[in-house]
Amino acid sequence: LMDIKSSLAEGKRQLAGVEIGKEPLFIAGPCTIDPKNPNLFYETAQAVKEAGGHILRGGVWKPRTMPYSYQGDNAALDILLEARARTGLAINTEVMDTDHLRLVLEAGIDVIQIGARNALNYPLLRQIGAQTAGSKTAVLLKRGRPMAPVDEFLAAAEYIVSAGNPKVLLCPRGTLPSMDGYRNHPDESITQLLKAKSWAPVIVDPSHSVGRAAYVPGAALAAMAYGADGFVVETHIDPKSGIGDDPKQSISPAVLATLITDARVIWKL
Ligand code: PEP
Ligand code: MN
Repeated sequence: LMDIKSSLAEGKRQLAGVEIGKEPLFIAGPCTIDPKNPNLFYETAQAVKEAGGHILRGGVWKPRTMPYSYQGDNAALDILLEARARTGLAINTEVMDTDHLRLVLEAGIDVIQIGARNALNYPLLRQIGAQTAGSKTAVLLKRGRPMAPVDEFLAAAEYIVSAGNPKVLLCPRGTLPSMDGYRNHPDESITQLLKAKSWAPVIVDPSHSVGRAAYVPGAALAAMAYGADGFVVETHIDPKSGIGDDPKQSISPAVLATLITDARVIWKL
């Protein structure tokens, strides 16, 4: 990645009140905001805050395997913004095209997520980098599907940085093929290679790597041991009543609170 040591020294690793590298960063919230049940999202947002989360995630537009599955809804963006207003948490959502990008930039989004399916979409990466240049907006870049090698992952981040935004967070989220019964092949261990090869923070996503709520804390703690700067974990106040990945993958706020406490201990080691 481009040498931007001087801009990092000016405090560009500050995000949501966290100085990345000096303390771990925690992002949590549902896979998908259900626009029919906004209160589930507001209650989850409050619980994420109480559990120690710094940034609230929530899917507004979703990259679904089947075109018949719920695809997202612009109304969910208003719910996300309302949750930010109520809790004071910074917010993160995925954009898949330049229409989404325009809407989240108008809303003053804190963190733009680029999903695994668009993580090698170079024109989109360039646009996002250019349109967030000089702003406070950070970009959470997932590792590309099915399995971007480490150098390809870093080169994708380079598109965003070279277009003007150095606030990139690298996000391993599991690779394909999945061989052992997890949703994806867990790749938290790539953290060590990413840290060795670049200056960018690594924020792992164990929810999509293992894909089962019961296995998420173990994978998240492993990532902290590998040197991750934080994690993004799908969390829902009542996972079974969620949509998208939430019934399978989301942990409860109580589990999140314990995980954050344990993660702080391992992060310090
Ligand atoms: C998500 O974060 O809900 C998501 C769709 O992730 P990914 O792009 O890693 O599949
Ligand atoms: Mn998801």
